[in-house]
Amino acid sequence: MIKTKIIATLGPSCNQQETIKSMIDNGADIFRLNFSHGTLDGHAKSLEMLNAARAQHRHTTAVMCDLCGPKIRIGRIHPEGDVLKAGDEVSIIHSEEQGNVSRFGTNYEYFSQDVEVGQRIFIDDGQIALRVIHKDDDQTVCKVVVGGPLRSHKGINLPDTKVSVPSITERDWQCVDWAIQHEADFLALSFVRSAEVINQLKSYLSKAGADIKIIAKIETPQALKHLESIIHASDAILVARGDLGVEMDLAEVPVIQKRITQICRHLGKPVIVATQMLQGMIDNPVATRAEVSDVANAIMDFTDVVMLSGETAVGKYPLNAAKTIGRIARVTEAYLHQNEDARPKTITRDELVLTAAMTRSVDQIVDDISAKFVAVWSQTGSTVRLLSKERISVPILALSSDQRTCNQMSLHYGVIPRCQPIPEDINQFTHIVDHLIISRNWAQIGDKVVLLAGQPIGIAGTTNAVIVHTISDRQSPH
Ligand code: PGA
Ligand code: MN
Repeated sequence: MIKTKIIATLGPSCNQQETIKSMIDNGADIFRLNFSHGTLDGHAKSLEMLNAARAQHRHTTAVMCDLCGPKIRIGRIHPEGDVLKAGDEVSIIHSEEQGNVSRFGTNYEYFSQDVEVGQRIFIDDGQIALRVIHKDDDQTVCKVVVGGPLRSHKGINLPDTKVSVPSITERDWQCVDWAIQHEADFLALSFVRSAEVINQLKSYLSKAGADIKIIAKIETPQALKHLESIIHASDAILVARGDLGVEMDLAEVPVIQKRITQICRHLGKPVIVATQMLQGMIDNPVATRAEVSDVANAIMDFTDVVMLSGETAVGKYPLNAAKTIGRIARVTEAYLHQNEDARPKTITRDELVLTAAMTRSVDQIVDDISAKFVAVWSQTGSTVRLLSKERISVPILALSSDQRTCNQMSLHYGVIPRCQPIPEDINQFTHIVDHLIISRNWAQIGDKVVLLAGQPIGIAGTTNAVIVHTISDRQSPH
């Protein structure tokens, strides 16, 4: 059983039902549709395939739609790969015309209005660096600082510029509607700059009656400035190391990752570490030592979720990558749970005080009586969210009658979500738990389970009972 949650990005490399099914077998919990690539029709086909694979599986999985956000890109280039040389001058214009190394287009209308002379411009994840030397309303003239091959539609980063492009673009809104219509479990928002946009998206979703959790991708200096308020407003956070490594000094990324992970732990929010986790496995069947160490260290820092991007979307070894990240997680988790010093310190929280007090005591009870499982009825998932952050040494069986809540609980470390009809009372709840645990061979008759529930069961906000239960095979009276 892998406690760390794994996100796999869908793409051409894993667009077969069999591959997706094998990825679920090997621990993938959440599948990411990346709206930066492909068409909505194409994503609909992927989703159909994914849902067919999910239907054959007991393991609960979820769907995350990743909105492109205000990503600025260069236009078409011909010939592809012509090299920009350091010291050369190049003009950037807002145009769809074909470009080259002396003049090329961008999809962003107000590019020349927003940038200032002296600012830096990065292309293709920072491979190419330019500096603005002159601009007027129509064009931005730059000097090439670091050269490199210029290819169509590569991303542009403007770390020094106050960009006026809206945080959710027109195309993003279309994607939001698509996600609502297709009942996605999560929406990830790229290039978040403040909490406002999260609240804006939240109120749009609630007006549409959509139960979708929002994940803020932290990838700009502006987001770091408003980190706490963004984390408060969001349901989960994604450390987007790709763009972060261009927008910030690359050397700062590990420290930023640790800082974000730590704040998320204190605020009880799930945190995802993403990008280049097993980058080498796009081309190679085996990960590098540095990659393995990076994944393990992220888990040791109490990351809840690790994400695979190109590794599963366009790599040669999608399944191998999923297996590898799962193996690293398993070994690292065993270490964490055997070493007192490696376990997190108690967290103080100002929200859900009663729930937090109970989740903390559950951790203590599990250790003291050597319980084998924790089982919780969590109608909305908020008890489970806090419980997961305690890094309890045994798995948490999380039950809800709401399928969407179950899918969304896939984001929480150590949690096994299961959808079940609401039991009549705690007695029936214990029968369900006994049955689930015994039928899956997860523990034996006579083992202890710590239950967390409220009366009446299934009503949000009533969790107020911690019960120690001994697994038995008595017949359910119902
Ligand atoms: P992306 O986001 O893959 O959508 O760019 C992740 C990152 O920037 O790291
Ligand atoms: Mn990004």
